[in-house]
Amino acid sequence: MLSLEDLDPKGKTVFLRVDFNVPLDEERNIRDDTRIKAALPTINSLLEQKAKLIIASHLGRPKGKFVPELSLKPVAKRLSELISREVILAPDVIGDEVTKLKKELGEGQVLLLENVRFHDEETANDEDFARSLAQEVDYYVNDAFGTCHRAHASVVAIIRFVDKAAAGFLVEKEVDYLSQMVHSPQKPFVVILGGAKVSDKIPVIEGLLDKADDILIGGAMAYTFFKAQGLDVGRSLVEEDKIALASSLLDRIKEEKVDFYLPSDHVLAVNTDVKAEAQTTDSFPLPAAMMALDIGPKTIEKYSEIISEAKTIFWNGPMGVFEVDAFSQGTTRIAEAVANSEATSIIGGGDSVAAVYKAGVAEKISHISTGGGASLEFIAKGILPGIEALTEK
Ligand code: ADP
Ligand code: MG
Repeated sequence: MLSLEDLDPKGKTVFLRVDFNVPLDEERNIRDDTRIKAALPTINSLLEQKAKLIIASHLGRPKGKFVPELSLKPVAKRLSELISREVILAPDVIGDEVTKLKKELGEGQVLLLENVRFHDEETANDEDFARSLAQEVDYYVNDAFGTCHRAHASVVAIIRFVDKAAAGFLVEKEVDYLSQMVHSPQKPFVVILGGAKVSDKIPVIEGLLDKADDILIGGAMAYTFFKAQGLDVGRSLVEEDKIALASSLLDRIKEEKVDFYLPSDHVLAVNTDVKAEAQTTDSFPLPAAMMALDIGPKTIEKYSEIISEAKTIFWNGPMGVFEVDAFSQGTTRIAEAVANSEATSIIGGGDSVAAVYKAGVAEKISHISTGGGASLEFIAKGILPGIEALTEK
């Protein structure tokens, strides 16, 4: 896979795919510009080297139609402020007018295409659309890690129609950390998984079974595993249609060397209402009217001990309903344990990343992944369509 350093972009027209899928408020103001800022090293490097820069991104789910509310107009404005240069916003993604703008582009100038998902052909990875995207383009750079698990036209098909394709700084860093972890982790390798849905995480567990030394489970997903063992979990969140899958996974785990942990105690309440009275238990059955909303103190202690001995840590998914103070202890304490360990630590997932910032330990984490879904799929499959396309070029 080529990186930015392998390109000599001076005077070349470069198509840069980024992830500017930022949250907007009702007045279409950007609520959080982290994703734009994350791409600045790549953008600035290309501009300093005098590339003619075309930038493309998706925003929301316009489903193949021009949706004015999902225009990249606010992004163009914010990006222009951040790089102190004019950003020309194209009226569309492809077409005669856009081609004209591409041809007129000078060295060090920036043309931002409209939302690539205004065309259905983007998500269909359509060849003709990709050829149009690549019109007038010499080099392609991908810095949209969060989109690399999608075989879309601006991520995969476009690469066939350019002279050279490279990873931007963000994508390069993500791939470096995640490949090292998947292919040759320093041991002990501890994997911490939590969050709401077991279905999202089962492929990750399967992908790591023969690599991880310890898998620590928290969050609601634990209760699908408990239910699969025939235990009564009260009103805890269970994915009924995944019980059989969880059960066969538990059987497979017995055959592997990995140590698989479920919580040994639980913080319970009747609901997540802040005023709902919480109590802790370490035995089943859980009371019929209550739900488990966080891991308990014994689990925190056990997990923290295992984490403190790790050399590599991957964490995805909070240990409880961390958005509510009464159920945030487990997540906060595990975040602290990860931050205080000597291990190379990688955290992925929107809510997990938010939890680490909330706990105030983000700067002590080795790598905070910008793509939750993409990092999980990378771990499950060992590769992503967007990365594979860059590598094969
Ligand atoms: P990430 O975004 O980090 O990948 P997920 O989206 O998988 O994480 O899960 C996060 C959500 O899981 C949070 O909204 C949290 O409240 C919820 N959650 C965690 N533990 C529980 C639980 N025991 N019961 C209900 N919801 C839970
Ligand atoms: Mg989430």
